Amino acid sequence: MDTNGDQAGHHAEGVVGAGSAETRSVSAHANGNGHHANGNSHHALLKEKIAILKREREAVILAHNYQDGAIQDVADFTGDSLGLARQAQQTDAKVILFCGVHFMAETAAMLCPDRKVIVPDLAAGCSLADMIMPGQVRRWKQEHPGGVVVCYINTAAAVKAECDYCCTSANGEDIINAIPADKEILFVPDYYLGSYLKAKTGRNIELWKGYCPAHAVIDPAHIEKLQEIYPDAEFLMHPECGCLTKQMDVADKILSTDGMMKHVKESKSSTFIIATENGILYRMRKENPEKTFLPASEQATCHHMERNTLEKVLRSLLTLQYPVTVEPQIARRALVCIERMMEISNKAKPLAFPAQEAPVVYGWLDKDPQPVQWGDHVLAAANDLS
Ligand code: SF4
Repeated sequence: MDTNGDQAGHHAEGVVGAGSAETRSVSAHANGNGHHANGNSHHALLKEKIAILKREREAVILAHNYQDGAIQDVADFTGDSLGLARQAQQTDAKVILFCGVHFMAETAAMLCPDRKVIVPDLAAGCSLADMIMPGQVRRWKQEHPGGVVVCYINTAAAVKAECDYCCTSANGEDIINAIPADKEILFVPDYYLGSYLKAKTGRNIELWKGYCPAHAVIDPAHIEKLQEIYPDAEFLMHPECGCLTKQMDVADKILSTDGMMKHVKESKSSTFIIATENGILYRMRKENPEKTFLPASEQATCHHMERNTLEKVLRSLLTLQYPVTVEPQIARRALVCIERMMEISNKAKPLAFPAQEAPVVYGWLDKDPQPVQWGDHVLAAANDLS
């Protein structure tokens, strides 16, 4: 299979969503596989400059598994949200250049208050995280007195400050199981991850109806066609997928991105259908060149992740832009649910369950966002569960 072509295709799709002339010109070179001769030398020069500046700045580059291959190549560590949070905690670098999206950098900033955390593009946010606001969590809690709020790590710090526990797709089950069995659980914001955890744990979980657009476009019918063409392929699915409700029983494994990376390395299978954001295919192909990886959907790309480019990484190191910080009174409250997650996830004894401090007023953040417009495909999948 022509992996270079596929990866370039992944990027080309992102260009449509990215929009700016700057991004378009960068993207022509940014397939990360050396497919384009000019792009090759352009990237080589950028990578050289980034390596020099990184040393001068005493910086570490952390990249999410969904980042463009060229950025993964210059990163000191590539991983999922939990792995990146752990790396941020452990690094002694003065500067953390976080290549991912805003909530991830916020988490690093809260875990490492004495480090400078910067991002290549402040506009790289998360559509899923934007589907819940702090005021909405507060109101939901009032409607469910005694409910324990668990938030996916894909939430703003101000939302985490309203929650009792945080979780990732890698440790969600452990976190839910650590909560006393008699407690009602309110899960925000991802409906599909919440549905998966509800099915796995059998717990009383109320679900917020948020979703990730990049995962929601994955279409069960297309996966069925791929399975007909590649009957021996293993089908790996991320629990954020909108097709989860229909495909959960037919997926060979439902895994976090790092869980997928580990599995494809250890599995005896040679072909895999991958249902998550397509940036991960670069790392899979790079680390397992003898195996074949097929995207469950060519459209499963995150336009937020694609805002980050090598040029912006270099500019960040040069100018130390853009810093990400979290207001101390928000960070103090948000860290409670993050630290509970870390403790449970690290298999240490969970923290006691202290009452949260009094709520903070966040101003504009308390305003509700526009109602989420659910596409037909997503609504159909949601209706399957209701
Ligand atoms: Fe958010 Fe989805 Fe992009 Fe992940 S892939 S950062 S959940 S919008």
